[in-house]
Amino acid sequence: MSTIFGKIIKREIPADIIFEDDQCLAFRDVNPQAPTHVLVIPKKEIPRLADASRADQALLGHLLLAANEIAKTLGVQDAYRLVVNNGAEVGQSVFHLHLHLLAGRSFRWPPG
Ligand code: AMP
Repeated sequence: MSTIFGKIIKREIPADIIFEDDQCLAFRDVNPQAPTHVLVIPKKEIPRLADASRADQALLGHLLLAANEIAKTLGVQDAYRLVVNNGAEVGQSVFHLHLHLLAGRSFRWPPG
């Protein structure tokens, strides 16, 4: 079943899309947690990272490299954080795999 991110991929609902290629899409988070907060998602509907398989190895690498390219484009390549929430218990609310690309403020460690 398609999620809200599936609908963004199909342009059924609007989003502030900043990057797209044949395998992924990136758009600004509607509820930003940092001055830069972009979501990088595969076009393939994988609910959680835990649902990915060996067959997704190249796609997962592609997402990381796309996130890095987007960070460069946005001028935040020297200080950004990538977050993947895997499962509702750790905060996943949309069950379509996504990388949070966060930058533009200081971040604490460990994360809350
Ligand atoms: P997570 O909680 O890790 O599943 O992250 C889901 C993220 O999607 C949250 O940061 C939401 O603010 C964001 N989000 C939900 N709906 C939309 C939307 N329509 N456009 C952009 N971001 C969204």
